[in-house]
Amino acid sequence: MVNFAPDVRGHARVKDVLQRLIERDRVPQSLLFVGPDGVGKRLIARALAQALQCEALPEQRPCGSCRHCRQLSAAPFTVEEAQQRRADLEKRQAIEKGGAPEFDENVRPTSDLLVVYPSRKKGEDAAAASARRAVLKVDQLREASTFLQEAPFESRRRVAILADAHGMNVASQNALLKVFEEPRSTSWAILVTHQPEALLPTVRSRCPEIVFGPLAADDVAAALEGAVGDAELLRRCAALSEGSPGRALDLMREGFLELEEALVGWLAAGAPAGAGLELRAALTGKERTAALALRSLMRDVAAVRAGVAADALRSSRHAAALAAVAAGPIGTRALAIAESAAAALVALDANANIPLTLDALLAAVPPPR
Ligand SMILES: [Zn+2]
Repeated sequence: MVNFAPDVRGHARVKDVLQRLIERDRVPQSLLFVGPDGVGKRLIARALAQALQCEALPEQRPCGSCRHCRQLSAAPFTVEEAQQRRADLEKRQAIEKGGAPEFDENVRPTSDLLVVYPSRKKGEDAAAASARRAVLKVDQLREASTFLQEAPFESRRRVAILADAHGMNVASQNALLKVFEEPRSTSWAILVTHQPEALLPTVRSRCPEIVFGPLAADDVAAALEGAVGDAELLRRCAALSEGSPGRALDLMREGFLELEEALVGWLAAGAPAGAGLELRAALTGKERTAALALRSLMRDVAAVRAGVAADALRSSRHAAALAAVAAGPIGTRALAIAESAAAALVALDANANIPLTLDALLAAVPPPR
């Protein structure tokens, strides 16, 4: 028995379930991977694709050494990797086997693996597209349907991975449903989402769910090893990541410590209702991070009032400013404000179509006059 996806942190139970399905060669032809954003669902989907295409005996898949395993290990997987690879290929005048996909966001790591990512705006990176709940375009999915209805080109099986599957509209979901209902015997589809409620019940009933949980704090920290950033930034972002290395990286990318510092300055000034241009500029587009920082700071303020020592605060480097805030009118409402920030986070995660405005977030703070 091989150790399935050893390079992906955590998810022992999910790996165990998939490993057993692989060994019995009973992997359902359409699967739904559900769980928090950024915990490693796509990486597990990639490992599963490898196991499905591997040429070794079922109990040895993925063997890591057959030609398909080796080809897939070396293949580009993300849009960025694919763009780099395409540029390299063009340089060498090489032709991609199986035809290059029509859309930038449809990555074809090998001729028999297709990964569909949400469409991006010009210059937008993957995290930003995912954060604004980007869509999977109808044409992208048409290409995926065709891909799944065709015979494999050079391996035993074709696999399509739909990243952020909740970005499909109803028409696309219905079109895919037809493919799932009469799947070609050589085709597998893996839908990946952190918002399963956005999928049609008919689609969900067709796709057995594999549920991913958050990672343990140790696994997040281990996954972040090697990420750029000072030790404090790593520690704070890992603690606020809710078990998701992807989210921790988002926080780091958005400059969590600077953003927190801007909020501290505003709080220490008594939270003037018309927050300054500088604060707005620092927080705009980073509403989720701002809500996390505000919640963390107000919990610290409440802790100061409860007599917790400065060096035990989450944000101990702002201990003096937070002590001043704790002694003022904001301090008496610290827990209520932390609750508001927490509620804002829930609203953001539940319904991204209504972006949380900074005004709404910050309005909870100033003391009533
Ligand atoms: Zn293999």
